[in-house]
Amino acid sequence: MILPTESTLAARTAPLALDLIRKYSIPGPRYTSYPPATQFTAELPALRLADAIAEDNAPGAGPVSLYLHLPFCETRCWFCGCNTVVTRRRGAAAEYLDDLAREVQLTTALMDRNRPVTQIHLGGGTPTFFPPDELRRLGALLHDQFKIAPGAEFSVEVDPRRLTEDHVTALREIGVNRASLGVQDTDPKVQLAIHRFQPQHLNVRAIEWMRAAGFASINVDLIFGLPIQKPDGFARTIDDVLTLNPDRLSVFSYAHVPWIKPAQKIFDDREQLPTAEEKLAMFAIAHEKLTAARFVDLGLDHFARPDDSLAVAQRSGTLHRNFQGYTTQAEASLYAFGVSSISATANTYRQNHKAMLEWRASLAAGKLPVERGLRLTDEDQRRRTIIMRLMCDRRLDYAALSQKLGLDFAKTYAADLGRLDDLREDGLLRFTAQGLEVTSPGIPLLRVIAMRFDPLFTSAPRRHAQAI
Ligand code: SF4
Repeated sequence: MILPTESTLAARTAPLALDLIRKYSIPGPRYTSYPPATQFTAELPALRLADAIAEDNAPGAGPVSLYLHLPFCETRCWFCGCNTVVTRRRGAAAEYLDDLAREVQLTTALMDRNRPVTQIHLGGGTPTFFPPDELRRLGALLHDQFKIAPGAEFSVEVDPRRLTEDHVTALREIGVNRASLGVQDTDPKVQLAIHRFQPQHLNVRAIEWMRAAGFASINVDLIFGLPIQKPDGFARTIDDVLTLNPDRLSVFSYAHVPWIKPAQKIFDDREQLPTAEEKLAMFAIAHEKLTAARFVDLGLDHFARPDDSLAVAQRSGTLHRNFQGYTTQAEASLYAFGVSSISATANTYRQNHKAMLEWRASLAAGKLPVERGLRLTDEDQRRRTIIMRLMCDRRLDYAALSQKLGLDFAKTYAADLGRLDDLREDGLLRFTAQGLEVTSPGIPLLRVIAMRFDPLFTSAPRRHAQAI
């Protein structure tokens, strides 16, 4: 394994190479999975997904990661790409939880329940749409059905507008120890344009409650490229957020995909959305301010304090990537519950019905609510390993890959490596005695480099959100 040197660590704080980003930034997947979810199919019998759980629970199976999708939101933010159900009817939470319990029990009946659960994530939607007592009921279900490992990472997505101190107490009672706060932008005018009014004092209050309750790590989510956002305003947002003293930040590029998310049609593409140059300026400002504040650029829009577990995992070559983004939980099978959620085992992906009615109907019939998925070929699994190591380590160690994949990496993937010449000539990566290393200017273009190993893009480009 090649560990980052002092010089590569220092280089990570260098300014962005904007001309190279302009030259190479093209639409591509975020590689939270490989192959990406756009490749899933609905040919369920051929996929033999019913066998996936049994296959994944053979003797000696490793740890488990859980994802619970809690889809309700009181109002819709117009930029949002999540699978949400907008309602103010609180009773919806209890009904949903009844069905979620059914799905968990149907699944655990097929699992080895002694496998340690090392990570749990409550995502949404707005998990704190659930009243505190419903969160306690959810916690009791998880503790009853799974063997949760001591020290497991248990995280929740928090909307500061829908959080009370009672929620924080309930979350800590069930074992939640990490939170991710949706902030997006602190400018009231931008908030009005995206239908998400969230004064800064709500963010301050949420973090005070969580710090006092003993949350170990707090992440803040921001988005650049939103309607009427400008670089100087986004600079103030970064300053506002730094006063919150988060442990991690995610600075996402807004993906304008109205053909997939009709709510985004409300934005006037030409009048409201920032230009590509303005977006790039916002990303550059975020990068400059956060690295100056000594956050480590993990790649793919994620920044963390140097002593945060993600930054430590990256330095030690143990960082991993799943549907929630970067994680320290390497090689855990992912079991996901709730509408639209995606489970992952070594050689399968299974996605639940996106429509609540269909998800419910499946469960009522006593069936796992799977709508589509993928069974990975051996070659898919090899390419997943290559892309994962590139996205997480920013380098490919040929000897380590050859050993892991059971082949001569440089020889087998000579054609792919040959497709990197232009990137190398422009200084986005370099070849070393051990293999390939992404340089500081190449880090913002990790997705573009990874796409050179993805046959979907080396043969026929597809329609995706822009890389920056
Ligand atoms: S951004 Fe969060 S709160 Fe807003 S609609 Fe999406 S999931 Fe709901």
